[in-house]
Amino acid sequence: MSVEQQIQSLRNELNQHNYNYYVLDDTTISDFDFDIKLKELQDLEAKHPEFFDANSPTQRVGGEVIKNFETIPHAQRMYSLDNSYSKEDLFDWETRLKKLIDGAIQYTCELKYDGASISLTYEQGVLIKAVTRGDGFQGDNVTANVKTIKSVPLKLKGDYPEKFDIRGEIVLPFDGFNKMNEERVEIGEEPYRNPRNTASGSLKLQDSSEVAKRPLECMLYNLTGSNLGVNSQFDSLESARQWGFKVPKAAKLANSIDEILEFVDYWNVHRHDLPYETDGVVIKVNNLQQQEELGYTAKAPRWAMAYKFKAEQVSTKLNSITYQVGRTGAITPVANLEPVELAGTTVKRASLHNADQIEKLDIRVEDEVYVEKGGEIIPKILGVDLTKRPANSIPTDYITNCPECETELVRQEGEAQHYCPNYNGCKPQIIGRIQHFISRKAMDIEGLGGETVALLVHEGLISNYSDLYELTKEQVIPLERMAEKSAENLIQGVEQSKTIPFERVLYALGIRYVGETVAKKLAKHYKSIDAIAGATGEALVNVDEIGVKIAESVRAFFSSEDNIAIINRLKAFGVQLEISAEQLIGQTELLKGQSIVVSGVFESVSRDELKKLIEDNGGKVSSSISSKTSFIVAGDNMGPSKKTKAESLNILILSEYDFIQKIS
Ligand code: AMP
Ligand code: ZN
Repeated sequence: MSVEQQIQSLRNELNQHNYNYYVLDDTTISDFDFDIKLKELQDLEAKHPEFFDANSPTQRVGGEVIKNFETIPHAQRMYSLDNSYSKEDLFDWETRLKKLIDGAIQYTCELKYDGASISLTYEQGVLIKAVTRGDGFQGDNVTANVKTIKSVPLKLKGDYPEKFDIRGEIVLPFDGFNKMNEERVEIGEEPYRNPRNTASGSLKLQDSSEVAKRPLECMLYNLTGSNLGVNSQFDSLESARQWGFKVPKAAKLANSIDEILEFVDYWNVHRHDLPYETDGVVIKVNNLQQQEELGYTAKAPRWAMAYKFKAEQVSTKLNSITYQVGRTGAITPVANLEPVELAGTTVKRASLHNADQIEKLDIRVEDEVYVEKGGEIIPKILGVDLTKRPANSIPTDYITNCPECETELVRQEGEAQHYCPNYNGCKPQIIGRIQHFISRKAMDIEGLGGETVALLVHEGLISNYSDLYELTKEQVIPLERMAEKSAENLIQGVEQSKTIPFERVLYALGIRYVGETVAKKLAKHYKSIDAIAGATGEALVNVDEIGVKIAESVRAFFSSEDNIAIINRLKAFGVQLEISAEQLIGQTELLKGQSIVVSGVFESVSRDELKKLIEDNGGKVSSSISSKTSFIVAGDNMGPSKKTKAESLNILILSEYDFIQKIS
């Protein structure tokens, strides 16, 4: 087999696995084997850039950074939908339809996915562009970001039309949404409120490799174009499915309003079993000929109608308000409710978010409150039934002191949340911080779990993470659920963590706003904890991607004597607090302060390797050419517009070989 054939066969195979997994939800390969094959393909493509293909499965990881999204007009306008809320509304609609067209009307009923709408253009079976709805006439070109969504086919199968647009909805399923929020909470960020906004926000991220990390999905529902070879909406869904698109199987034909209502009633209940959000049903006249006759109003097609589900609401009694203290000291008020059935689950608690929210709702203990489960995963309190308020009810005073340690709470200008400032003395903060320290992405201490950490703190055996390194087997054995062997594992796990590289230790320290990526940047830039501790706020802000908020938080962390003492202990125990000699190999400052653009296809290195070389030598990779660009590394097929721009700005263009010479 020639290299080209080998590459092609790997691409086909990986495309098929992606399709099985992301479109059919039916895996036939282990993650491990998939990764091996992907790596194999990446290596071959790197060695043979002449076979580069923008639609190869290797391109799903993203990497393109876009500062301003280009505006692109839609070939056909993306309309909104008219809404209906009742049986009467649907009958009225049918009456209007019957005045405009002759003959029986059949309908396709579909779910209404709640996300961000998108229009995909395919030519010759290849994804050409992806554009957001925008104002309906024109939207943003978000192709680089959409390509990272694995259920969007980059290449089609079967007998597809030469050229068409297909429209759909990009959603963030609940599972992935929850996971993203857990990670945010871990670095002390506010969790995202709902999947829909997070999905549409994701499409506008500038760095497509960040989008690639988000578990977005794309559900398709509408074909546009000419010579599509279909006569009805229902058939077009089936065709799209055959070409490789993700088209949920829920769609059904209905011959009357009553049959539509059966569909609505069924999904009004069963939507709660779906892995993603839906906010209603969309009913479309099935026959495309009839659709054409019906046409559009100023805002929406006459042939389609959304039927919105009512967000389920119940009322129940507020028994008490309690306050939780998070790892960063943030206080979250929680409403404890009289248990009540809502949308298929028993609801006992709801978040009240912060003091402002409580004040706005004027919510009081003993009140009868309305609870809704809508887009948000955690049920929301909408308001109070004032007719049921007891005569002697007392307005809620927000707590002034920490419920755990009694310290007076603080609330910074412009922040919604109250904080307990007792950083080193407040139990939930101490426990949360140590739990973060040992977590998988941080020190990854095997043999030690979150509950044991809580136990160790409560028993007074540890009060900060540096104490872990002094624990002895004898101290641990008497703890609940511990035995000789598990105690040994714990001690060994702690010992092992001394080999964890500096950047992860830095993340493990739990400095507010210093997540994995920021920790990497700081570690790389400063190379040791002492250098970071000594950096001024001004210097920190000058590091790529470090903003004022992060810089202030880092300064605050290192200005605490307690923290410095803990870090000195970690150092003494042999935890990695600087970049190791191995990591430093190949790193220089040769390109310090330079902004470099990479363009085209290369022979001897892959684009990613080239970017890494630039970064390892202290340079910054930038995606667009400007007067600030120091030079361009160009391979074959450098874009003509980039070339003209570079020439007009008089910017040096180097070949990959010139570049490698420059840094060696
Ligand atoms: P609205 O934003 O409430 O006016 O609803 C219109 C939007 O619903 C459209 O722009 C689509 O993005 C979205 N939508 C979700 N599911 C469907 C579907 N099955 N058919 C048509 N539109 C849908
Ligand atoms: Zn406290």
